[in-house]
Amino acid sequence: MYYNWEENTSTEELKVICNLIKNGELIIFPTETVYGIGANALDAEAVGKIFIAKGRPSDNPLIVHVASKEEIYNIATDITEVEEKLIESFMPGPFTIILKKKENVLPDIVTAGLDTVAVRMPNNLIAQAIITFSGVPIAAPSANISGKPSGTNISDIRNELESKVSAIIDGGDSSIGLESTVVKVINEIPVILRPGKITPEEIREVAGNVEIDKKVFEQVGKDEKVESPGMKHRHYAPNTKCQLIYAKDEKNQIFEINKRVRKYKGDVVVIGFTEHKKDIVVSEGRYIDIGSKHDLEAFAKNIYSELRNADKIKPEIILIEGVPKEGLGIAIMNRLLRTCEYDYFEYKE
Ligand code: AMP
Ligand code: MG
Repeated sequence: MYYNWEENTSTEELKVICNLIKNGELIIFPTETVYGIGANALDAEAVGKIFIAKGRPSDNPLIVHVASKEEIYNIATDITEVEEKLIESFMPGPFTIILKKKENVLPDIVTAGLDTVAVRMPNNLIAQAIITFSGVPIAAPSANISGKPSGTNISDIRNELESKVSAIIDGGDSSIGLESTVVKVINEIPVILRPGKITPEEIREVAGNVEIDKKVFEQVGKDEKVESPGMKHRHYAPNTKCQLIYAKDEKNQIFEINKRVRKYKGDVVVIGFTEHKKDIVVSEGRYIDIGSKHDLEAFAKNIYSELRNADKIKPEIILIEGVPKEGLGIAIMNRLLRTCEYDYFEYKE
């Protein structure tokens, strides 16, 4: 079933959608970050269907979505002062917090057997309505086949997952386009396990302190212990191999990209800034304009969908322009490093 929420969703339809959740079915729904593929978090069998639909490794826990603070206290316990501050400041919003899990509420499959739970409260109104009227927390990872770029618009998602779910709710393109900032408070310090729209600066302002887990920019060894299991897995990658190129000086950045365009005899797609289009030597249709170099919000919003578009051209390689690791650029670079499976060239000046 396909519902276009913007045009004509009635209370009757909301009821039908929420009954699917209550009855253990999967739905795809919008949030402000990316689309989610959701199931009743209290129902182990329903949650199991998410892992099957996505082909998701069972050691990678899911984020549990709630619509009120009360619901956080239903699934988590021993919430500290720092955690409380973060909850007050950033929820609802594109923010996920790892909390101590309350015993005997959520089935083990949701948290991959960990004694913690990842909690998020979306500020997207459609997501809030669905969670509220379902009356249960909703476990939901991003709506995409495991390892692929996250789903941020309905046509991408329909191609990949339509046959695997009971309903798809179209709420338009995701407004942020990158997944939530994931934070775990360790020894009273908020540690960013996955960067996102909520930046380290914003967190520091609220909590007085912040750290970025070093695995955010580093490759994780196969048997290495990590704070967040998702850090270990292949992620955000189209079928075509990708390379990320960054130079502080933009002339060098353009030079390095053009060098590679020549090396691959033009059989590339470049994902680059509006300002660089005229200088990068690719043929018509092989330059994907990701927006102005001054507009990282546009970069974040469009990157997953453009990676899929680049894939359709089937070049030998997709070359992607990097951005400075500041503000939202931290999240963009974290994702792109994984998109490129750490094939990253940084020009040393
Ligand atoms: P997604 O796959 O887009 O749903 O993102 C969820 C992310 O949160 C993944 O990287 C998970 O590994 C991470 N995560 C979920 N639950 C926990 C948890 N209890 N502790 C640490 N990380 C978690
Ligand atoms: Mg995901």
